[in-house]
Amino acid sequence: MCKHGTEEMVRVKITAERSHTGKAYYRDMPIDKCIAPIVRALQEGGIDMNGSCCGHGKCEGAIILADGRELIILSPEDSERYRTGSNMPDTTIMNWIRSLPRDYERWPVGSW
Ligand SMILES: [Zn+2]
Repeated sequence: MCKHGTEEMVRVKITAERSHTGKAYYRDMPIDKCIAPIVRALQEGGIDMNGSCCGHGKCEGAIILADGRELIILSPEDSERYRTGSNMPDTTIMNWIRSLPRDYERWPVGSW
């Protein structure tokens, strides 16, 4: 994860719902450098999104899709812990997941 403020410009679609004009348009936006290639690939693939953050090493990263779903970005270390269900620090993803709206609780919780 990159330090806060380490960004790369990516051309992103501002959806009509989020546009101040009510019409979709494209704009260069600063995206956290370590996830910029993922955001760019999603944009080029026509996936609308509302935002993204890599977490800057403080929490997991996320790319928020326009339809309400989220792509969670785990570090390689947290990914391994997630996959094996071992030694997941209570301070990282579990607390973060607990802080999400209740609808999210059905998601990874329970498989840990
Ligand atoms: Zn980063």
